[in-house]
Amino acid sequence: MTELGYAQAPAVAAREGVPRPCLGCGAPMAVTADAQLHADATLTCGFCGRSETMPAQAAAQDRYLRLRLMQVRRAREGMEAPLKTYEMMRASGVFALIVFGAQGGWMLWGAFTTADKGSAVFGMLGAAGMMGVILANFGMMRAFRKLIKPLQQARPPAAPGLAARCRSCGGDLPPVRSTHATCAFCGANNFLDNAAAHDVNALLTAEQQDYKVRASGGKPGDNTIYQRPAHAFYVWGAAGAAVTFVVGVVLVLVLV
Ligand SMILES: [Zn+2]
Ligand SMILES: [Zn+2]
Repeated sequence: MTELGYAQAPAVAAREGVPRPCLGCGAPMAVTADAQLHADATLTCGFCGRSETMPAQAAAQDRYLRLRLMQVRRAREGMEAPLKTYEMMRASGVFALIVFGAQGGWMLWGAFTTADKGSAVFGMLGAAGMMGVILANFGMMRAFRKLIKPLQQARPPAAPGLAARCRSCGGDLPPVRSTHATCAFCGANNFLDNAAAHDVNALLTAEQQDYKVRASGGKPGDNTIYQRPAHAFYVWGAAGAAVTFVVGVVLVLVLV
């Protein structure tokens, strides 16, 4: 689990969307909360250099909201921690392919040129490993796409013309042209394709329905769902390797 660190928590800008004109030059001021959570946030102007510490009451509100975001973030990161395994395996897939491919290819080449059944069977281990890695990655990504991606869709804009919202904290997402965006408030990854492709009213209704169900204590979350991509990796990988090996050995016995 990555440590958020208070310093990284973005200022909530005490009521996002309310303008903060500089009293010196009129330019919009930025809220900076680069200090610890207990320090007061500062309003700074990038044009005239004016800087003022937020009044105690506003700073307290900002601090309170940042703490709440941090709690939301920690809870989400804890629940989604098994996805770290998914990312790690995805990153190492190509390396494993090269190793198994080189080993299996070399052994098979040797086997067929020298007609040696022993090393051909041994070479099949490499081929089985390679097929195992390919199918393991296929199964894992399939599980991610089917089970995890729907959970990570951004919430649609609350009204036409507004920004899409973070699935976890509800904050406005940055206007990006990519298919996913990272929330600046809580760090959650959000897929953006649904808001454009679906009926926004239906999504908003579904969202409200979801809150109602949760508020009434129904539908306990399935905490094991985030382990499913890694689980699919092992199952598909083992099955793919076993089948490839058996078929390969039969072929070797017939052909070599
Ligand atoms: Zn100014
Ligand atoms: Zn968020």
